[in-house]
Amino acid sequence: MKNSRSGPCKSKDKPIGPVKKLIGYITFINQPLKQKFLLFATGVLVWFLVIFTISIATLVSLKSRSDSIVGHLIPHDRVSQKIIRKLQGLNIDGRQLVAATGRGDVIKITKDSGTRLQDIRAFLNALGRGGRVNDYSRSEDKFVESFTVRPADREGQLFVKRMAGQMDDVSARLDRLSSLKMEGLKSGKGGGVEAAFKNYDAALSNAVALSNKYSAGISRAYAAASGKIGADLRCSFTALSAILLLATALLVVFTFSISVAVIKPIKAVIGQIRSLSKGEIDISKKISINTHDEIGRLALEFNGLMETIDSMTKFKKIIEEDETLEDVYSRLGAEFRYFGLEDYTVFEIANSQNKMKAAYPPESLVGELSCNPEVFENCLLCRAKKTGHKISSLQYPGICKYFAGGERKEHICVPLMVGGTAGGVVQFIFNKEDLSDYRLSAIEGWTRAAEQYMKESIPVIEAKRLMNTLRDSALKDSLTGLHNRRFLQEYTESLVAGSLRRGKSIGLIMGDIDYFKQVNDVYGHNAGDAILKETAEVLRRSVRAADLVIRFGGEEFLVVLIDVTQDESFKIAEKIRETMEDVKLKVAEGFIKKTISLGVSEFPADTESFWQSIKFADVALYEAKRSGRNKSVRFTKEMWKDEQF
Ligand code: GH3
Ligand code: MG
Ligand code: MG
Repeated sequence: MKNSRSGPCKSKDKPIGPVKKLIGYITFINQPLKQKFLLFATGVLVWFLVIFTISIATLVSLKSRSDSIVGHLIPHDRVSQKIIRKLQGLNIDGRQLVAATGRGDVIKITKDSGTRLQDIRAFLNALGRGGRVNDYSRSEDKFVESFTVRPADREGQLFVKRMAGQMDDVSARLDRLSSLKMEGLKSGKGGGVEAAFKNYDAALSNAVALSNKYSAGISRAYAAASGKIGADLRCSFTALSAILLLATALLVVFTFSISVAVIKPIKAVIGQIRSLSKGEIDISKKISINTHDEIGRLALEFNGLMETIDSMTKFKKIIEEDETLEDVYSRLGAEFRYFGLEDYTVFEIANSQNKMKAAYPPESLVGELSCNPEVFENCLLCRAKKTGHKISSLQYPGICKYFAGGERKEHICVPLMVGGTAGGVVQFIFNKEDLSDYRLSAIEGWTRAAEQYMKESIPVIEAKRLMNTLRDSALKDSLTGLHNRRFLQEYTESLVAGSLRRGKSIGLIMGDIDYFKQVNDVYGHNAGDAILKETAEVLRRSVRAADLVIRFGGEEFLVVLIDVTQDESFKIAEKIRETMEDVKLKVAEGFIKKTISLGVSEFPADTESFWQSIKFADVALYEAKRSGRNKSVRFTKEMWKDEQF
């Protein structure tokens, strides 16, 4: 049975592959559940943080690029467009000036052009330093719009500078055109106006070209900025997609391993519990232990529990099939030793007699015990018996004053409870000097396991004890408490075999009370019974514990002396006879004296047949009676006559 057990359940340490190691690392498989979920939550948070950071970085970059487009490029482009519009206005002004017929018209057009030039200068000023741009439509004479621009960059500053110079040129050429026109109107000749206009128009064209160039530059910057926005978006999209993919993959792996590491063993435990409740225990179905977290521990503990239940079930089945009480004790003892409880004694309690005696191991029947001998005569002195609780001197030093193990020993006494009372006590003894810290902490577990086995064996022990009692009563004489003739018949074989093996002799003394009938006749049957009881006691006291005293018939007793030397039997017979002679036997009316006659034979000295030896003792007894009674007679061959067959 021991082979079926592997002791406290341990996980088998298989080598772990690198992939499993990595998965274990990613899924925190060996962390406690709380830590696992904490790490999982932290992991999710980290991923969120990464996604958040990328998104924010993208948004910030988009904002700065769109800011430069909206706040810089677009207003500057608008200003350059407005400058071109004003230049076109100046061109129209020039044409009207050439075609003008009155001085008033010339003055008005020249003034309008001056305003337009002023507007352009204001625009350039705003571009150069940054500021508000107020746009008026001079042809329609109304306000168009107002917006702010930021100071131009290096290229813009260059444009502003060039345009300012160009505008000075335009202004000078406009003045020349205007004064030539006035002179022409005054003199009636138009000499030089056409040429001055061409000159003026060429300066305007230069200014338009400059503005167009600046506008084209802005457009290029705009295209570059939009291109960058697109690239930023693509980049962050790729990064987010990759992160999402990685996080999803990790989540899948985590979920899968969680289901393997958590759900699978839980399902297996449920399955085992179900089969346990149906009474089908299959110990081969061990739950596999994949993790070192609480679930792994659950599986480990459950496997241990299953193993305990299984070995307990097997143990119970085996002790039920055991023949004798001693077999059961020996198996229980083997379990105790297995748990590390080497020194133990099983005590049996005879509640009806208030007595207690050591029953196992065999050495305890003859060796010294760790209890005060008073306990065996009065079992209520045993604290474990009296209280029905486990008594441990390890927990409460000196708890039982009847413990006689001395200063160097500790004890734990566990009652074997049957129907509310202790039917026995198991005592575990420990040497104080052997009690290391490890042993001290282990002992509690060991005794608890031992108690489980004791609990399982109590019904079997009780049944066997009951059977023994019944058997004892069938082999005992109820009046005297001595063994009866049936007992002798049953034990003869082993008795004789043992004696022959040891090469020793068995002495046989057949005793018969002299004139016993008179007691019945004079004092009555009860007095006769009392005499029989007292005679039995005299016989019992006169021999050793190992010898057998048997009530052979009515007032006939047979004493079987084990391992006697030659002539020793006769001496013992004489001792019995003399004791009987001296003893006053108590009856209701007072004390009377009786004598006894005894016949002695020896096996195998007188005959090789044991039963014939008994017969020879009987023959010698007959001789004692015949020759006067109150005598011991050693059998001799001459006493044996053929007719006695
Ligand atoms: P002797 O010296 O020859 O042995 O004389 P005795 O009277 O002892 O022998 P006998 O065989 O004549 O008488 C034995 C008596 O023992 C007869 C029987 O009534 C009595 N007897 C046998 N068994 C019991 C018993 O259990 N109780 C009582 N009170 N008497 C018993
Ligand atoms: Mg007699
Ligand atoms: Mg007789």
